[in-house]
Amino acid sequence: MGKVIAVDGPAGAGKSTVSKIVANKLGYTYIDTGAMYRAVGLKYSETCEDLIDVVEKIDIELDDKARVFVDGQDVTAKIRTPEISKLASDVSKFGFVRKKLTELQRKMAERGSVIMDGRDIGTQVLPNADLKIFLTASLEERARRRFEELKAKEQIVNFDAIKTEIALRDKQDSEREIAPLKQADDAILIDSTHLTIDEVVAQILSLCSTH
Ligand code: C5P
Repeated sequence: MGKVIAVDGPAGAGKSTVSKIVANKLGYTYIDTGAMYRAVGLKYSETCEDLIDVVEKIDIELDDKARVFVDGQDVTAKIRTPEISKLASDVSKFGFVRKKLTELQRKMAERGSVIMDGRDIGTQVLPNADLKIFLTASLEERARRRFEELKAKEQIVNFDAIKTEIALRDKQDSEREIAPLKQADDAILIDSTHLTIDEVVAQILSLCSTH
């Protein structure tokens, strides 16, 4: 059985970009837990039902191309907007939401050979992971990366608005009572502010070979 790698960190640190590449190189499965919270946020925004009912009934699937399906519908593009980012953070503070998604995530990691990214993977979801990374970067740099990413998708964006949105979301994620964004005691910190994607990937691959 291959290893279990947990990658946590604030918004825009590059977690999903590097995790996808590492997964590819190792032949592992990449699991984007943020996409699952986004899926709940999206579904909640599209119905008049209570959040608790939405969570109970929702069917979330991630495929091997990192596509996200909600009740059989491909929502991969739809969940990547600033509105859904905020909604995902809002719904993620509820214990019943976290419980359902945490159970799903643990099941997904059961067979090993996985790299999972999020906010509470090393601390709550997979406390026994073989390797835990806490990936961060300065707020300015994270906002710049998110700005470029959204611009490339031809979304209308404003740099300062993105920076404010990220700072607020990090604050909300770090200060919530249940499973806040936090570096696990045994996680290795990588500050990617001045690193390229390839450099971060190389560091994780090297750590993986010694863990
Ligand atoms: O990683 P991403 O930006 O897609 O995550 C969206 C939101 O989902 C985060 O801001 C956070 O509130 C929530 N989240 C979480 N726990 C995770 C992953 C994401 O609370 N493991």
